Amino acid sequence: MGVGIGAVFSRRFAQRSGYSNMSNATFQEIGAVLRANQSFAVLSHVRPDGDALGSQLGLALSLSKLGKKVMVRNEDGLLEKYGFLPGGAFLQTPLGEPQDFDVAVALDTATQNRLGTATELVRSARIWINIDHHPSNPGYGDLVYIDSTAPATGQILFELITSQGLPMDQAIAENLFVAISTDTGSFQYPNTTARTFEIGAELVRCGVDVGRVNQLLYESYPKRRAELLRELLGTMRFEGHGKVASFSLSLKTASRLQARPEDNEGLIDHLRAIQGVIVAVFFEELPEGKVRVSMRSKSDAADVCAICQKFGGGGHKLAAGARVRGTLAEVEEKVLKEICHVVDCNS
Ligand code: AMP
Ligand code: MN
Ligand code: MN
Repeated sequence: MGVGIGAVFSRRFAQRSGYSNMSNATFQEIGAVLRANQSFAVLSHVRPDGDALGSQLGLALSLSKLGKKVMVRNEDGLLEKYGFLPGGAFLQTPLGEPQDFDVAVALDTATQNRLGTATELVRSARIWINIDHHPSNPGYGDLVYIDSTAPATGQILFELITSQGLPMDQAIAENLFVAISTDTGSFQYPNTTARTFEIGAELVRCGVDVGRVNQLLYESYPKRRAELLRELLGTMRFEGHGKVASFSLSLKTASRLQARPEDNEGLIDHLRAIQGVIVAVFFEELPEGKVRVSMRSKSDAADVCAICQKFGGGGHKLAAGARVRGTLAEVEEKVLKEICHVVDCNS
């Protein structure tokens, strides 16, 4: 992955508790690389969420305004429900041939393989930058900035852009607002800090129309999504005296409803919202003999990232995921058993 020129940068040794083995670059070092180079590939993870897309487009628009050549790619492109994001056209152009770039930037992507086929478009990049907020991110790349206390990659980008005097305008602000809003559950989850609200206020000052953006983001769902929710609630089950709630989606049901992968983003919150539930789980059967497992926790004592890592996945303490080989029934049994080890299901 790129030429390892990381050594030429004097890396600050991060003092964050629990992650003391990880060394972060400074915003100044990253800012200098962004200014000094000309061509950029801005990438993010497969099945992109609001943080992935908002971060990609926010950074791309800022670099573009700085006069840089920017290519923005992820495996799935711009999802229809995020079609309103300014700069979306960056993600709509055809895939094209692999190219050489000065710099490739991976955003919000816990492991390199979650970049999927988007990396195939990068024939070479002299410098790989990795900006993320997943504690499980191993720190791949030449210039790494991982802040697991940031609720969204979009929040880190706001700090980077403003601290380095990079271009910011209403379009960039709208993308960063969507990135932060979606990863904090509309500024609700415990990862939301005073700084997150300060940044929210700054973004509104930059021109974000909160009512309009929130309506586009949270009140414009296709009917399919409500139909999917109805099906999912029909499969809802509880373990451990109501501490663990789950529901599942088979390929058959998904196909009958013509559901798109992005339709289920956020539906797990209906399980998390139930009184007494500590861990919520969503099982989604995938075509390749695997099951996508999505987990949410309401307690620091139930670290769902640690559980998902046992199945080859990762994420955050309170929101994590994995792709597990097996049938829906097999994976459900295995995963629920593991959760019951962590959350005492017997009392
Ligand atoms: P999701 O449940 O898909 O919304 O994902 C929740 C969190 O877990 C996100 O921050 C993801 O980046 C992370 N995550 C989901 N699936 C995986 C996976 N297969 N490997 C690593 N991290 C994942
Ligand atoms: Mn993400
Ligand atoms: Mn994120």
